[in-house]
Amino acid sequence: MKSNKKGLNTLCTHEGDLKDTKFKGVVSPLYMSTAYAFDDVDIKRYPRYFNTPNQEALCKKLAALEHAEAALIFGSGMAAISTALMAFLQAGDHIVLQQTMYGGTYHFAVTQLNKYGIEYSFTDGWQVEDFEKEIKSNTKVIYMETPSNPLLTITDIAGVAQLAKKKGLVSMIDNTFASPINQNPIDFGVDVVLHSATKYMGGHSDICAGVVAASQEHIDTVFQSAICFGGSLSEYTVWLLERSIKTMAIRVKAQSDNAQKMAEYLVGNEDVGQVYYPGLKTHPDHDLAKSQMKGFGGMLSFELPNMDISLFFKHLKLIKPVMSLAGVESTVILPVTTSHALMSPEDREKQGIKDCLVRFSLGIEEVEDLIEDLEQAIAKVKSLSVPA
Ligand SMILES: *Cc1c(COP(=O)(O)O)cnc(C)c1O
Repeated sequence: MKSNKKGLNTLCTHEGDLKDTKFKGVVSPLYMSTAYAFDDVDIKRYPRYFNTPNQEALCKKLAALEHAEAALIFGSGMAAISTALMAFLQAGDHIVLQQTMYGGTYHFAVTQLNKYGIEYSFTDGWQVEDFEKEIKSNTKVIYMETPSNPLLTITDIAGVAQLAKKKGLVSMIDNTFASPINQNPIDFGVDVVLHSATKYMGGHSDICAGVVAASQEHIDTVFQSAICFGGSLSEYTVWLLERSIKTMAIRVKAQSDNAQKMAEYLVGNEDVGQVYYPGLKTHPDHDLAKSQMKGFGGMLSFELPNMDISLFFKHLKLIKPVMSLAGVESTVILPVTTSHALMSPEDREKQGIKDCLVRFSLGIEEVEDLIEDLEQAIAKVKSLSVPA
């Protein structure tokens, strides 16, 4: 673990930035070159070697934010996740994956791993014992996601990381929902931290990227797969992502505050069923969340039973029903038709994802405006469904 005494906003704004020594511009210059002369230099720079000036600069910032020794930046979250998994697994190995997780990662596991002779098991729940139960003699990796998508379950990060250490396994975590602002898994002993930077790091719904952060040794291992799979991010997007991250701490804080207020409001709304948010004292793992998170994040889910949800979505004026999440604008989706559509209905039911579950990504708008939008849309749907 690397201790960095600088404040979070200072790290977000300055860490790793490239100096413009020629013109003294305040932002990192953008180097678009894919070709670099290598006479008189030590490093052979090339985009797919993940070592161009802008890539290296951004990786310093990412490593600092995740309290890691090193980081790599990829062309998408799934590029980061799949490359990291393939770096630590080979034919004959086995991986234990948390049952509640991002649909794309689930899809990767069930459609790809067997092709490479890699076995996998999903846990029955998200307790440490659930992970331990699935470990076999050939297990190499334990994979968790907390808070999870879409039900915001909380996994005991230190507990799972310790279990992995005890058994000599590599622990991995998808830290996308929390972002490095709200949760730093390396402090709890996790080996490899993964992000879809498309979400809170980008934060403006206009960048697709992914991150792996870990010790230098683990990053070297991931790098060996990364140069083969070739999932590097284009220079311009690397540069844009550096710009986005400058405001990440203030954005995520505003989004987390909004989510807390919205969750408390939804609990009191009689048209709303179950509300899932780790910041609620009624969340079964609220205390655990409090012990490992600095903020509870900008994501929540709620059930809207007895209502035509597509009609509800149609009448929202401010909140946009869209795929993806974590932008400065508030968005909602129905996991059953989007993020978890590739999952069988039986598996969804096993995970507790109901058809009326709405996932809500809080933006930075005033929460009063968001509440008003929800209320008018619910009222409209109710008025339309009253028999004439
Ligand atoms: C979006 C997402 C991913 C995948 O990232 P992409 O950038 O879409 O490839 C992985 N994990 C979580 C939790 C996500 O929300």
